[in-house]
Amino acid sequence: MNSKAVRWPESLWAAVTPAGPELPRLAGTAEADVVIIGAGFTGLSAALHLREANVDVAVVEAAEPGWGASGRNNGQVIPTLSRPDPEDIVAKHGAAGERFVALLRDSASVLFDVARRYQIQAEQEQAGWVQPVHSPGRIKIAERRVRQWSKVGAAVELLSREQVSQMLGSDAWYGGFWNRTGGHINPLALSRGLAKAVLDRGGRIFANSPATGFARQGGRWVVQTADGQISGRALIVATNAYTGEFSKSLAPDIAREVMPVLSWQMATEPLPESVWKTVIPGRQAMSDTHGELYFARYDARNRLVTGGALINPNNAAAKLKAMVGQRLQRLWPQIGAVKFDYVWNGYVGMTTDFLPRIHRLGPDAYAWTGCNGRAVALSISIGHELSKAVRGHAESELALPFTKPAPIFAHGLLRRRAMLMLMVYRRRDAREIA
Ligand SMILES: Cc1cc2nc3c(=O)[nH]c(=O)nc-3n(C[C@H](O)[C@H](O)[C@H](O)COP(=O)(O)OP(=O)(O)OC[C@H]3O[C@@H](n4cnc5c(N)ncnc54)[C@H](O)[C@@H]3O)c2cc1C
Repeated sequence: MNSKAVRWPESLWAAVTPAGPELPRLAGTAEADVVIIGAGFTGLSAALHLREANVDVAVVEAAEPGWGASGRNNGQVIPTLSRPDPEDIVAKHGAAGERFVALLRDSASVLFDVARRYQIQAEQEQAGWVQPVHSPGRIKIAERRVRQWSKVGAAVELLSREQVSQMLGSDAWYGGFWNRTGGHINPLALSRGLAKAVLDRGGRIFANSPATGFARQGGRWVVQTADGQISGRALIVATNAYTGEFSKSLAPDIAREVMPVLSWQMATEPLPESVWKTVIPGRQAMSDTHGELYFARYDARNRLVTGGALINPNNAAAKLKAMVGQRLQRLWPQIGAVKFDYVWNGYVGMTTDFLPRIHRLGPDAYAWTGCNGRAVALSISIGHELSKAVRGHAESELALPFTKPAPIFAHGLLRRRAMLMLMVYRRRDAREIA
């Protein structure tokens, strides 16, 4: 493997996860029935499901499997979007929206099933996902979510202030939204496990092979890389928020559909039993209602994996250690002074309405972007749906609400200003909602 060529973020996951499979670069000319660009959860899930259907598939990855968002996220398995609820999704997308809601509802259980079925050791814990509310008025958010998700049969509950206090070991929140099917994983281990499962079933993955563009030629899709090209009957562009990271010419309209916002992740040193017995003792994954999100989960070594956001990333690690350390002590005074062993970041692709963007690019060609920081579970399920799309399933059967690529106006400007949104979130977070 050309692992020397790949610089991994200095993350907890990169430090603790066994190396991935040996992979070749794409050199010269190759062919497959389906070509996938990007080896994150979406691309790898699509490839695995295609191999299960005996389809010849090849994945072209700029770095290595899991190098993008999939290997550097917080690993919270969350079967909802960040803000839109079922009624918002159906209002926007009709029948396709209803199918998408069902896909989302089942997405956490599907992820844990995939890990079990392919015997992937990803430190998975299906301990549930909780969204506690950070002001009394915001209980309305939890009530709305419980009402809408219950209607479509999701395993959700409204938690009282006392229940949240018991579940999280803190009096900082005022109740919450609870989904039993959620949980957490080591995301890089899941990425590498999926890659191995693809290879074991005869799929091909080319690493260190950034695609520079794709085009329709002679009834096939041709993908160019630095040292070669590969053609396929069908194409899946699974580069998500990292579209444009390696080649501006890959799919500029898709790259400009999202604001790539840097999300900072941190892991504490392993915490003593006296702490983990009282701080989130049930080991749930937690992300609250702050726009400047408070989130945390344990890893398998009892490190608390959390993080924060910064307006100015200069001297980021020091600033974050101070800011998030104080936050943890505010939420859980019993935690004491916390030492952080890892600080890293990754790009979250935000859309203006917090809904994902899913596209048909031409005959048998598809793409999606706009994870809005909530698509560990969803991207595995979207990968499965995209595998059905390229196998010719009718649009009326797919849980894919298609839209046309619609780049954000003045994207370059917005990109520079994205972190200023944090100031707006801080103001809103401090206010009660009406
Ligand atoms: C810091 C962070 C924390 C997050 N935390 C959570 C969380 O706790 N829970 C949750 O639900 N969601 C979370 N998310 C979102 C989640 O990680 C993503 O939605 C999900 O991983 C998207 O997977 P993907 O396969 O679509 O994209 P990615 O994993 O980003 O994969 C895209 C791949 O395409 C490759 N690529 C890019 N350009 C090219 C090219 N030109 N040629 C070939 N390959 C290319 C990249 O190298 C990358 O491997 C988080 C995201 C980040 C960044």
